[in-house]
Formats: sequence, C-alpha cells, structure tokens
Amino acid sequence: MKMNLRKTAPSFILAAALLLSGCGGTASEYKFEGTAPADSEIYVSPVEGITDDFLRGADVSSYLSQIESGVKYKDFQGNELDEPGFFKLLAECGVNAVRIRIWNDPTDKDGNSYGGGHNDLDTAVTIGKWATEAGLQILADFHCSDFWADPSKQKAPKEWAHYTFENKTAALSEFLKTSMERLYTEGVNVTMVQVGNEINNGFAGETVRERINSLLVTGTNAVREAAASSGREVKVALHYTNPESSNLLDYARDLKSDGVEYDVFAVSYYPFWHGTTERLTEQLKNIADNYGKEVMVAETSYLYTPDDGDGQGNSVSSDTVGVVLNYDISVQGQANEVRAVINAVKNVGDAGIGVFYWEPAWIPVRVYNSDSPDAASVLDQNRESWEIFGSGWASSFSKTYDPNDAGKYYGGSSWDNQALFDFNGEPLESLKIFRYVFSGTLRDMEIVKVEDIRYESGIGAAVEMPSSVPALLNSGDKKDIPVTWNVEQVSAAEASGSGTYEISGTAEDNGVKYELICILEIKKINYIKNYGFEDADMSMWDIKGNGVGKEADNNKRSGEYSLKFWDSKPVSFTAEQKIDALPKGKYDLGAYLQGGSAGSNPVFELYITVNGEKFSAQSGVTSWQNWDNPIVTGIEVPEGAEVVIGVKVEAAAEAWGAWDDFYLYEAE
Ligand code: CA
Repeated sequence: MKMNLRKTAPSFILAAALLLSGCGGTASEYKFEGTAPADSEIYVSPVEGITDDFLRGADVSSYLSQIESGVKYKDFQGNELDEPGFFKLLAECGVNAVRIRIWNDPTDKDGNSYGGGHNDLDTAVTIGKWATEAGLQILADFHCSDFWADPSKQKAPKEWAHYTFENKTAALSEFLKTSMERLYTEGVNVTMVQVGNEINNGFAGETVRERINSLLVTGTNAVREAAASSGREVKVALHYTNPESSNLLDYARDLKSDGVEYDVFAVSYYPFWHGTTERLTEQLKNIADNYGKEVMVAETSYLYTPDDGDGQGNSVSSDTVGVVLNYDISVQGQANEVRAVINAVKNVGDAGIGVFYWEPAWIPVRVYNSDSPDAASVLDQNRESWEIFGSGWASSFSKTYDPNDAGKYYGGSSWDNQALFDFNGEPLESLKIFRYVFSGTLRDMEIVKVEDIRYESGIGAAVEMPSSVPALLNSGDKKDIPVTWNVEQVSAAEASGSGTYEISGTAEDNGVKYELICILEIKKINYIKNYGFEDADMSMWDIKGNGVGKEADNNKRSGEYSLKFWDSKPVSFTAEQKIDALPKGKYDLGAYLQGGSAGSNPVFELYITVNGEKFSAQSGVTSWQNWDNPIVTGIEVPEGAEVVIGVKVEAAAEAWGAWDDFYLYEAE
C-alpha cells in the first residue's frame, strides 16, 4: 500500500513558507491600471477599459501534487521558486486570483489517492494559504463529487451514494458549511465559491432539473450562511460549459424560475471546442442583461506547443481531429488567446468580471522524450509519481470510483502543452499576459510566418496563381502580402493536366522574404451540371417515367441528395441532360449506382448520344451502398456536336436504389 505523504508534507513546508514570507510584492499591492507599455518578446495590445478589480485567475489545483512529485518552478531569471515565491510570481505577472477544485474524498478505502492533484479540502487549505499570503483571492471550486465532475460525469460522493434525497440535501449543506468554515478558520481568502463544476447535465449524482436546482438552492444558501457566520462576504458562482450552445440561456432561465440565488454565471470556454469569442460575448451578455447576473470565464487555455512532455498523450495537439486551432500554436498564440478571452468578457460590459486560466502549472514531473534512450525509465518514474502523489489526471486507484474512464485510462498530464510554464518549469512570457492586458507591450506588430496554401484551378486554361498570400502577424491578425511562384513548376503542372502539384513560392514584405509551398490542384471540368443533385434547380435534367426523383436520405453517395428510385409497380424511367457547347475533343462519361430488388433481367444503362449516335455502358445493383461505377470511355466529340447524356432504368416492382455523382471529363 502507498503511504499517503499528503498528511505530513504541508506542516513543515508551511513553516518554511512563513519564514520566507514578507519579501516581494503581493497581488493586493499591485496596481496595473495606467502602467506603461512593457518590453517583451510578445506583442500585446491593451484591453480597453480593464480595471484592477477584473479577476485574472489561475487554476493551480495540481500544484501541491506537482511539487510533492519533485517538480521545480522557476522565475524569469531561472531561480528555483519556493512555494510562497511561486504564488508571488503569479501575482507579479498580473494574476490576482487562484481557483482550487475540491473533491469530497478522492481516495479509495485504503487511503490511496485517485490522483488528479489529490484535491481534497486539506490540499485546498494548503494551496489556499500560500495564495492568500501572496495577496491572491481564492475561488473554491466544489465539485460535490469524489473526483472529476464535468458534462459526462456528476457522480455523488461515495458516502452519499445511497442517501435519500433529503439526506443528500442535508449532507451537501453540512459539507459546504464545514468546508467553508475550515477554509476561513485557516485564513484562506475565499472570495468566490463555485457550487458544482460544469453542471450542464447533472450535479452530485442527480440528473433531473428539479432535483439539481433544489440542491443548488441548498448549496448556495449553505455557502452564504457559512460566509456570514465567519463575517465574510462571498460571491456564489454556478458553472456550466459549452457556452456556444443555444441551451445556455435555458439554464439561467430555469435557475431563476426554480429560485436559485447566485451571483455569477460562469462558463468554461476553450476556443478549440467552444466557438468564437464573439459568440461567447453575445451569450454572456444575454445572461447578464436578461437575468442581472455577473458573468465570467472560469476555465480557458491554449496550447503553446504540439509536443507532449510527460508520456501522457495530450488532450489537444496540432493533429487533433475536430478541433479549431484559430491561434498560432506558440507562446505568442497562447497570449493572444488569453487576451481575446479577457477582451470578450470585458465586452459584456461591467457585468463581465473575470477570466481564469486552467492548470497553467500542470507540467511534466520528469520530461519525457520518446526518442531518448532513457524514455522507458522516465515514463516508469513518471507513472510512479502519478500513482503516489496524484500528479497525473488519474491514478489506478480511481477504478473503484470511476471504473469506466479514469480507472481504465489513468495517467499523467494531458495538459502539459497548455501550461504557462515550459516542460522544465521555466515561466513562459505568456504568463505575463495578465498584466500586459493593462499596459500592452512595446513589441512592434510584425509577421510571424507565412503558411503554405492550397489552391484549385480548372483544367485546360492557364493556371492563374494567387498574387498575394495571407501572412500571420504576432497580433493574431492576418495581412495579405505579394508572392511570386516558380514559373517552371506552374508550366509543368499545366502541361501535365489534372492532378496535384507542389509549387514553391516566395512572399515578400518590407524586404523580408518568406518561402512557402502551394499545393496546386488542377481539377478536371465536369461538363454535367448539377451532377450530384445538390442544387435546387433541376431544370437541366429531363426525367421521364415513374418512381424517380431527387431525394435527401441515406441513399446518397456524397453531399445530401441523390437521384433516388423506388416504386410499388415496375420501375421505368430515363433521366437525361443535354450538354451545350461541349468543346471538340475526346471524353469519358461515368456515374455511380447502388440499390436492390431489381428482379430478373433489369436494365441499368448509362449512355451518351453524339449527333444521335449512342455509346453506352451497362450497370446493375447488388445491395445498399454497394456502388457500381459504369463508364463510357474515349467518346469522340466533333465541333458543334449535339450531345445528350443519360441513364435508363427498367426494373421490377419494389426495385430501389439511386444514381449519384455523374461526370463527363475530357479524356486524359
Ligand atoms: Ca502530456
């Protein structure tokens, strides 16, 4: 069994912390409004109207597990920071609040930690005291669960699992009150409390709205009572995610009608998952205006590198499918993201009160490099730390509580490439964004890079390459600059006909040259109009017969529509298109067909007539989505010929299927 070091570590670390306190400034002493632009390697323009009371937060919940695992954080001069020094560095960089998640009991029955920072109340007290000494405010984020709570899981703490709803209500109230009183008694400067975390789909094991909101009434009351009895003022926040969703306002509406009294409507906003910052502003402003609430972003972050630092694959990287990476993956891009989110919340107006960065310090315990000869042993050591100290997102011991996710896929930090410290604990310049949003920086706006482009051109005509390309600026904006292309490569591509080619180019701005590649695709011209039946206008098709028409269903091959057929009586039709002004030349005709139940000796014919002479190919159906591709090749078309393409179908009653994606290309 693993020893739980957490019980012994804080007391002597804290003694050291107290001895060292008193040096350097604290967050409450810093005033950033009206400060002069700073020298920096990154470009930042100030956020208009931002004031010192705007919350610039960092969720450093994993911090204690990290340092127990041996992680060292450094200042900008490379000096190792002790615990008070770490929090003072945050304050110096403009952070004025810290968010700490709290789980009721993140341990198995033998006392082994589930991991994920081992964020029980003791951990919150320890981190909260260091943060308080550095003058930071604390947002206590009660998940009201024993481990991660998010849209996919809202499990009740195991102790409450078999409680009646009445008993759970009483237990929630008691837990929040005693936890808050403990935090205040220990001197932790809690100024905001979250009751629940990303509670879109549930809370504390409940999934029905009436019960969720009934518990929220109890929870918010408990927080206010605890603050009042300790002589403190506190804001109560409720926290949801997917701020881009049209459902967001429904939560605010239901909270109002269910009588939940809270102060702050908080959301997670990750730009790679959650839409634009304009949409974020619009949604938050709607809630502020319609429900009279303050609003904020309780979690955001962005990646500065595509690399993984600890051997645990990362949640988001440059090759992640289905994410939007609108900012450059760099320290500058990360700073631009935070600035944009702060600006988006500020654009709500006075009701927009803050932005918290999620886990900026969750870096590798030991730096893992898969190419290094010691990779296997580093990974083993990391795994041991994740298991003992909980510095990974989950330990194997979580399986008794969350068998299907954490218990299966436990491991390290999937967020190390989104930290505001590098893999070795050196702070990134983007950590200072929380002060630079006041002052801006002296860095000039300049080009960061010119990325490769893709370009499409039709066959047969001269390829007109673009005369300018977008250059990415350090501000995050784009600017078009002139470009020249390798003319030999362009001519060779033209001569080769349809296909994909790499063309090298040189863009230039202010005498600086940028090399880039254009992936040029020369596409064949399809002389058939509305060849996939996607256009509403069907006038070019002449369809005669029964049981046939365009339809949007699962019979399509591409797009939304196909030319579908079915009838209870024998199916008989032709679908033709006259091809006007087809240039003299040699052509290939093709189409795709699938279907079934065609009976014996059906006819499925694809044809073309040139001045009345017919050329055709026979096809047939076998089963659903099993596409046949009949083709007619080498069709000679003289100057001014009358050309018609078409299909003919004669099949049994109940025959079904679809034609799609017709083409008539010039032959190669
Ligand atoms: Ca990782």
